[in-house]
Amino acid sequence: MKYKIALLFLFAVALFIVIYLIFIMENKADLLLINGKIYTLDNSQPIAEALAIKEGYIIAVGNSSELKDRYNAEKIIDLKGSVVIPGLIDAHAHMFGFGQMLNSLMLAGITSANEIAEKVKEKSKTIPAGEWIYGRGWDQTLWSDKKFPTKNLLDKAAPSNPVILGRIDGHAIWVNSKTLEMAGITSATIDPPGGKIIRDNSGNPTGVFIDKATELVEKIVPPPADAEVEHCILLAADECIKAGLTEVHDMGLNSQTIRVYKKLADEQKLSIRIYGAVDAPSQTWNEFSERGPLLNYGNGMLTIRAVKMYADGALGSRGAALVENYSDDPGNRGLTLLDDSTMEAVTRQAIKKNFQVCTHAIGDRANHVVLNMYEKILGTENKKDYRFRIEHAQVLLPEDISRFKKLNVLPSMQPIHSTSDMDWAEARLGTDRVKGAYAWKSLINSGSIIPAGSDFPNDIMQPLWGFYAAVTRMDQDGKPEGGWHTEECMSREEALKSYTTWAAYAAFKEKEKGTIEAGKYADLTILSQDIMTIPANKILNTEIIMTLIGGKIVYELSF
Ligand SMILES: [Zn+2]
Repeated sequence: MKYKIALLFLFAVALFIVIYLIFIMENKADLLLINGKIYTLDNSQPIAEALAIKEGYIIAVGNSSELKDRYNAEKIIDLKGSVVIPGLIDAHAHMFGFGQMLNSLMLAGITSANEIAEKVKEKSKTIPAGEWIYGRGWDQTLWSDKKFPTKNLLDKAAPSNPVILGRIDGHAIWVNSKTLEMAGITSATIDPPGGKIIRDNSGNPTGVFIDKATELVEKIVPPPADAEVEHCILLAADECIKAGLTEVHDMGLNSQTIRVYKKLADEQKLSIRIYGAVDAPSQTWNEFSERGPLLNYGNGMLTIRAVKMYADGALGSRGAALVENYSDDPGNRGLTLLDDSTMEAVTRQAIKKNFQVCTHAIGDRANHVVLNMYEKILGTENKKDYRFRIEHAQVLLPEDISRFKKLNVLPSMQPIHSTSDMDWAEARLGTDRVKGAYAWKSLINSGSIIPAGSDFPNDIMQPLWGFYAAVTRMDQDGKPEGGWHTEECMSREEALKSYTTWAAYAAFKEKEKGTIEAGKYADLTILSQDIMTIPANKILNTEIIMTLIGGKIVYELSF
């Protein structure tokens, strides 16, 4: 009898220990954030104070005392009223290009060609003859004469170095005579299809090349080594997390960038999540499309499941394909870069292997053609959730706006472009057509969601600047007063969703991120002030206090 009681007692103790251990394990958290103002974007609990994180995921969202009682946390951070939003996502950008820009002459915002030549001259003094000088970001619309520059200025600045300077939109380059000589370009060189060599009255190249013509020069630039690509991507990632970004949709990858990304993910050096789109048509795409997508590689840091094509050029360099002539360039309707059958073939190849299709289209003609192409395919294939995207969707025919929702095509747009372009967009398009440009609210009203990005380095990387542009349609100096075509402004909630929830959806990641709720990645951006309520002109003063990716603090503001 005694023996039986002892056994029963032992059993009870063991049971108690097991239950206790389960309790402890269940209620252990790696990190608790308390006393914040948390915009969850989760309808069941839009605002919260605290959240608990375990093994990279959010495990609970609620109020501070409740979560403090419930969880035994390794670390507790008192947010002291700071604002937490779902980790910001840039839905369209170019990481390597951004890194290269950080690594080369920064020309964005410079207001004269002479000043740029001066920078080139300074750089040439620090490097041996023959070495390349790269720069990026010039924009002749900021200069007093607003004219394309010529090689002469650069020849004086750097006669013995090849110089190649990219325009702000990435659709034109400005080079010197040394570069022309090395590329073998003369007055006899003909314009390639989809490209234009700017010439003087006697037909001599002046040093500026548009769209496809840039390849005549770029093909002689020595390709970067893997180490350089890696260096640039790390530089870019570092800047992105400082700006509060937790994920970037990297548009137009080649095999080298993919190789470097995989290496970085393997070595756990990739500090920001990447959703990649492979450039097509290309050899890389031919190979990659055979293999199928790469999903949640390296602990969920790297996914490559999209393909990127270009239907046309950009508006600034008049390469965007318009239905009617450019208002400021009679006879020019812009350039289409791919024929319909090629775009259709790539799209069919993509959906067969579960790749998402992202097609760059800026002009109303290009958007119309791409929507038609998507519509044709959707009519013949099984009804599946393809989430086709149009990248930029910048100028739309009024009748095309509602087709996005009807076809479930996502307009992936860049709010910051509207304020970067507003000074000349109206000149290119005229007063009527400009109404269909950057038409966010019209798209949202027709039922579409807009994943937002910046297209960095073709525009400023800062997502909060994009948020500000989305809600004000004013530039960083508050111009024009009251905003530019403000009927197309987003509400703050829409703008926040476009950089989080909607961008996550655009990458098929709505179950993993985009809102703050239990079960999702602990990808969070913590802000110094409440961008949802402060006066709009204060938004740009907001500081990023912390960026968390997978529960890890990848950036922290030092005071
Ligand atoms: Zn782009």
